[in-house]
Formats: sequence, structure tokens, C-alpha cells
Amino acid sequence: MRSAKPYTNVTFTKRVDHDGGRKRPHRAPTEPAYCPGCGAVYVKRHWSHLVAARVQARNAGRPIDVRVCPSCHRARSGAPHGFLHVDGEFFLAHRTEIEQLLHNEVDRARAEHPLDQALAWEVLVGDGLLVTTTTEHLAQRLGRALRNAYDGELHFGFSHENKLAHIWWRR
Ligand SMILES: [Zn+2]
Repeated sequence: MRSAKPYTNVTFTKRVDHDGGRKRPHRAPTEPAYCPGCGAVYVKRHWSHLVAARVQARNAGRPIDVRVCPSCHRARSGAPHGFLHVDGEFFLAHRTEIEQLLHNEVDRARAEHPLDQALAWEVLVGDGLLVTTTTEHLAQRLGRALRNAYDGELHFGFSHENKLAHIWWRR
């Protein structure tokens, strides 16, 4: 039996330099700002979707900066945040049609919210389908689209402080 070697070569810190080495003074982010990904505005040091925040941004008397908000950054990083699980006999019998509906819905969602994307389509053991999405919203939207089109059962599960959504649809 071999003993496990310590991970002497592993470095746990990783610096990502988004500015290509350009020095940047430490100061509060510019405000007001607008996120093109989700429409949030940044005022009084917070990102918000509230109408009141938009009004504050509009009345700030300064040009609004366009900047991607932290949650959209997270979505853009490509880590999945939504999972749509599809199975059941109806799916097996109408698989092509259902997949086409999901693809169409993904295209529509992406047109409205550029950060909503399907990351992967996987066929599970047992002939189910798993679609992973960049945002929890897109997984929910796909589940609702299936229910609207075909009825069936729709279940929502959220984990990690609602940052991950699992959606199950079957009929
Ligand atoms: Zn955003």
C-alpha cells in the first residue's frame, strides 16, 4: 500500500489579472451603473432591481456607467446554476419534439437575457435528459415552458442559498 504524497506542488492562490497588469487605484466603483446582463442598477454602493434604484440612477445627474454586475459575472463564468431534469414515458415518446421546444426556448431566453444560456445537454442513464444552464432562471423557464406545452409534473428544488436550481419535469 502506497502512502499518499503531500501536495507539495499545489499552489492554492491564483491571481487573475483582468486589467492586463494596468495599475488601478483603489476607489469605490463608479456609480450610477447599469448591468446589461440583467438590467440591475448600481447606486449607493448596491446593485438593485428596484424601481427606486433606477430613479436614483436617472436622477444622479451623472452619465450612467455600463458594467456587468457580480451575479452576471458569475453566470458568465460558465458554471452551471440551473439543472433541468426531464424524464418519463411521454418524454421517451416525444423526445425530438421536446428537445426542439427546449432549444427554441433557450434561443428566446438568450435574446432577452444574453447571459441565459444552456451549457450542456446530457442524456442520463434511464433515457432521461439533463440540461444544465448558466442561470437558475433559465432552468425554471424551461421547466415552465414544458408544463405550458404538455402539462405534466413540475418540481422546483433550490440549494446553496437559492443559488442552484434543480427543476424536474415529467409526464
Ligand atoms: Zn447583472
